[in-house]
Amino acid sequence: MSEQPDTTEFDAAELDAAALDAADELAACRKNFLLDDGTVYLDGNSLGALPRSVPARLADVVEREWGSLLIRSWSESGWWDAPERTGDRIAPLVGAAEGQVVVGDSTSVNVFKAVVAAVRIAREETAAGRPARTEILVDAATFPTDGYVAASAARMTGAAVRAVPAAEMAAAAGPTTAAALVNHVDYRTGELHDLAAATAGVHRAGGRIVWDVCHSAGALPVELDASGADFAVGCTYKYLNGGPGAPAFLYVRRELQPRFDSPLPGWTSHRDPFAMASGYEPAEGAARGRVGTPDILSMLALEEALGVWDGVGMEAVRRKSLALTDFFMARVRAHVPEGRLTSLTPEAHERRGSQVSLLCEGELEAEAERVMAALHERGVVGDFRRPGVLRFGFTPLYTSFADAERAAAALGDAVRAVESER
Ligand SMILES: *Cc1c(COP(=O)(O)O)cnc(C)c1O
Repeated sequence: MSEQPDTTEFDAAELDAAALDAADELAACRKNFLLDDGTVYLDGNSLGALPRSVPARLADVVEREWGSLLIRSWSESGWWDAPERTGDRIAPLVGAAEGQVVVGDSTSVNVFKAVVAAVRIAREETAAGRPARTEILVDAATFPTDGYVAASAARMTGAAVRAVPAAEMAAAAGPTTAAALVNHVDYRTGELHDLAAATAGVHRAGGRIVWDVCHSAGALPVELDASGADFAVGCTYKYLNGGPGAPAFLYVRRELQPRFDSPLPGWTSHRDPFAMASGYEPAEGAARGRVGTPDILSMLALEEALGVWDGVGMEAVRRKSLALTDFFMARVRAHVPEGRLTSLTPEAHERRGSQVSLLCEGELEAEAERVMAALHERGVVGDFRRPGVLRFGFTPLYTSFADAERAAAALGDAVRAVESER
């Protein structure tokens, strides 16, 4: 390939990654992470980087709280309340007032709790003589686990699942809709959906809505309280940097909490767990979302990891995320020969999450996995999703504009290298 990078269409100043980094209001956050400076890590949408203070905290939890205090740590080290306490640390990051978020279990399990509970509430609210609420609407492009869980929840509640594009959720909801399950940001394309509009539409139809905010929590403002969302679930190991397999979170809107009838009413969500009563009486508040014994090691690692958000405003995160993804898209156009890659990620800011997904075109589609491998060899870590999608996550707390520049240049190089091997 003989194409040279074409930089003429861009303002030189705009392209100056160093200048953008110098003006970056979040630049100081990067030092709070342990990162290898030789690598450009653009996979924080799959597994967030390690916050610098976590190893020492985990060592203390293991050696002192577990090793020495043992069972006393449930009270003395605050283990018992960690799910609600950690939930209250996450709450402001997703636009929630305190007392509505609990941490525990995986996202998949929380999707189950929320969808079944949403169906139960919608049915309880349906007046006599109205059509039965027999349908669960599921985002047609959903992350697979949500779809599998919703299908099982539907079988258990005597409902049927209907796949609907997220953007059409408001219009699709009708008198038979019990619940809708929507991904706030599409994990594959990075498209951001309108939380307030879909919520209002489902509510107009008398249904309840569950948001999966795995790809927006910690990446952009998520206005759960303001939008009227009923339930939300999210990962903490992606943009919240909680570590591999860190427990997920569940948001239950305050006014729904008294009616939140969890399909997994474990003993730790009992009003008085240590009464060891034979009959179940749910706790008040967010604790009602608990199931069994919390996953303490992972949870306390997450709690420590959330310290990187102290003093960070989500508006600043959003500003930088959009600037980074704009810059990366422009630099990809400059560095990668024309016609090879198409962005699946919307150009429009109001429809863009915090990642860029590039579809390999033509002959390159079958070689996409090799392009990503070639990028890894060049010290740039993104990921590959079948059939031919290259995903790059932008995490404003630790990604720099210099990283984006290096990644785009390496991508141009990787494409040329793969093509030259044909
Ligand atoms: C990552 C992700 C999940 C993961 O669910 P787990 O139960 O943590 O494996 C679920 N939903 C979405 C939208 C995701 O992006």
